[in-house]
Amino acid sequence: MEISFKGKHALVTGAGKGIGRATARALARYGAKVTAVTRTQSDLDSLVQECPSVVPVCVDLADWQATEAAIRDVGPVDLLINNAACAVLQPFLEVTPDQFDQSFAVNVKAVLHVSQVVARGMVARRSGGSVVNVSSQASRCALKNHTVYCATKAALDMLTKVMALELGPHQIRVNSVNPTVVMTEMGRRGWSDPEKAEAMTSRIPLGRFAEVDEVVNSILFLLSDKSTMTTGASLPVDGGFLAC
Ligand code: NAP
Repeated sequence: MEISFKGKHALVTGAGKGIGRATARALARYGAKVTAVTRTQSDLDSLVQECPSVVPVCVDLADWQATEAAIRDVGPVDLLINNAACAVLQPFLEVTPDQFDQSFAVNVKAVLHVSQVVARGMVARRSGGSVVNVSSQASRCALKNHTVYCATKAALDMLTKVMALELGPHQIRVNSVNPTVVMTEMGRRGWSDPEKAEAMTSRIPLGRFAEVDEVVNSILFLLSDKSTMTTGASLPVDGGFLAC
């Protein structure tokens, strides 16, 4: 199956590390102009070194006004990947208001905001477009010490559906991918302990965590014209975890 993003402009959030960085690189490889948004300048510097066509934007997505100013003038966007998120693990009884606010600000509110800015442009230009929100298996399955993370990802899945409902008439498709654990920096923080990892992999029918490229390939599919009748969907990339 051949996929090309030639002539398309993609905006990827959280493009400094992990899944977002790999997505930005893949989109550039398949011909897209890529705007990479993240908050650590050194990550953007190294990304641009690897991929000189990438346009870097350094901003903390938790800051609504700074985000608005940073992405207002990036030009017409055809493909949006809302990937940035934070995952701070706390037992339910110890969840702090700060962590609740920070997590919802990045994992949900920033997705809504960036999508508003981008989708307003798509609607005004009547160009249509495709949005992929990077959610998680945690949106649909309770995981110990993941109270806030699970809640943000459940909210993100519903945000995905309502966006699909309201933006569909403008030919803007909105879907999510819902990966299992991936050993990025975020994944390593939560799942490096072999006992914990084994407890999770033993519940995954395919018996292993996902690789970054397996998530990227699903994102590319949902962005591409190979999925033109798919919107409002949550695509598990979880080796069957959510099927059980
Ligand atoms: P990661 O390695 O921690 O990378 C996340 C990226 O997002 C980093 O570049 C980070 O920048 C950026 N980011 C975070 N907060 C930001 C903010 N406020 N403003 C701007 N950029 C921000 O994570 P990942 O594993 O690639 O995760 C990517 C997505 O996959 C997330 O939505 C995550 O929830 C989801 N996911 C991950 C897993 C997993 O096991 N890894 C499983 C399921 C779903 P800094 O490093 O500078 O903060």
